[in-house]
Amino acid sequence: MIKMLFLDLDGTVRRTKSGATFINAPKDQEIIPGVAEAIARYPNHQIIGITNQGGVAAGKKSLEDAIAEQEYTMQLLPQLLEIYFCPDYEGKQCYRLTTDNVIRYAAINFEENDLQRWQGQCRKPNCGMVEIAVAQMSLKVNREESLFVGDRSEDEQCAAAANIPFMWAADWRGV
Ligand SMILES: [Mg+2]
Repeated sequence: MIKMLFLDLDGTVRRTKSGATFINAPKDQEIIPGVAEAIARYPNHQIIGITNQGGVAAGKKSLEDAIAEQEYTMQLLPQLLEIYFCPDYEGKQCYRLTTDNVIRYAAINFEENDLQRWQGQCRKPNCGMVEIAVAQMSLKVNREESLFVGDRSEDEQCAAAANIPFMWAADWRGV
């Protein structure tokens, strides 16, 4: 059995450098103080980023920029093994970034691995991205000992839907 630490990204792990509310340029971001220390308390967890990217659907950023933004977060925070993001409002699409020295991305193919039930459920507060991440693991996931950290009620709802304990980002960072 393995344990997973799911991290919302915006407002939980990263913030803009410019002070803007949302990241619209990929490199306008920095890791929030306390995040690295908080992650270090979970040495046996798989660290996974989970982020809605409705800015793509809203026309605020391109899909390419959303991918570059997640790649840059993985460079800034190499503890992140994977990031899943949902670019549309209907929760029908999901992209996965992985790292193995090189960061790669791919659109999730819902035809594979019985993932069809999660298509349309990817955007938080639904839990499709979490369930897809769990489905990618080669070992069974211990949900009770896993954790979801976020800064918004949609994160709390997503965790509840996936039967994973939840913690608020400010409490988790502890600073
Ligand atoms: Mg957030």
